[in-house]
Amino acid sequence: MILRVDRLQIEMDMPEQPDPAAASAVQELLGGRFGEMSTFMNYTFQSWNFRGREKVRPYYELIANIGTEEYGHVELVASTINGMLTGSSSGGDVTDTPLKGVMPPPNPHQFIVNGQSAPVANSLGQPWQGDYVFNSGDLVLDLLHNFFLECGARTHKIRVYEMTDHPIARQMLGYLFVRGGVHALAYAKALEELTGATVSKLLNIPNVPNSKFPETRQWEDRGLHRTLYRFSETDFHNLGAVWTGTHPDDGQEVSVEQGPPPGGQAADFPESPEHFAPGYDPGELAEIAKRMMDGAGGAGFVGRAAEKLGVKGDGAQ
Ligand code: MN
Ligand code: MN
Repeated sequence: MILRVDRLQIEMDMPEQPDPAAASAVQELLGGRFGEMSTFMNYTFQSWNFRGREKVRPYYELIANIGTEEYGHVELVASTINGMLTGSSSGGDVTDTPLKGVMPPPNPHQFIVNGQSAPVANSLGQPWQGDYVFNSGDLVLDLLHNFFLECGARTHKIRVYEMTDHPIARQMLGYLFVRGGVHALAYAKALEELTGATVSKLLNIPNVPNSKFPETRQWEDRGLHRTLYRFSETDFHNLGAVWTGTHPDDGQEVSVEQGPPPGGQAADFPESPEHFAPGYDPGELAEIAKRMMDGAGGAGFVGRAAEKLGVKGDGAQ
């Protein structure tokens, strides 16, 4: 089973300016074939479908554990897209064409379908697909695929980096370059141990080191490129059997750290009445939620209907 921590994996600033064009490119990193939904679902399903796991437990744990980290990467990219879209419509009366400012929308679904937020789709607006998951059941083949997937993901991230200097896109990318580097190296180490092939010699793909990107520095200075987080309070104690030895970039020992990174408070993006998000009258919704949290109850449809009819409904005050 999976527990959830309501924090982003990094502290992320609230952006001052929107950039819907760049946000539509970032969609590829969320719902594209090489996006975070793909890494998340590939490793997660490989772990759920893993046969004979007790015999090769460290490899099972590695795949399951990285899959759990990827869940939070999907969240981080979605948060980046939300931040980059915030402020791109003008607000005001729904009859005043408040969304005219987003025309022509780089990704119409972000606005028409999702109310100025992130669909589970790629940069062309095509939905993420289950057949992006490769799971042959053969451990070496699946690990080789995962190594390839991390390298493809890195290629796409670098290209998106080349498209935008939006500050929160760069914050997200700097962190994910470093974490993706850990995953690619972890799969390389796993393959090396199993087959004897020195897969890590293939790195970096593309042949640009992470240190080239200034946004990686704060993470590499803290050694995050050598750190595998254990995303479980109780399990996955065999990760160190695979995540061992040195890092090829700096020759220093890699290590496993207990628990997820401290991360940062998830952003609370402002309401957007022109998209009816979270409702046409956010003030009224806030009032209802406050009454619920105060324990007063009776704030829902039934309570309000009962109030209108002058009867005392279930849970009404
Ligand atoms: Mn990732
Ligand atoms: Mn990854």
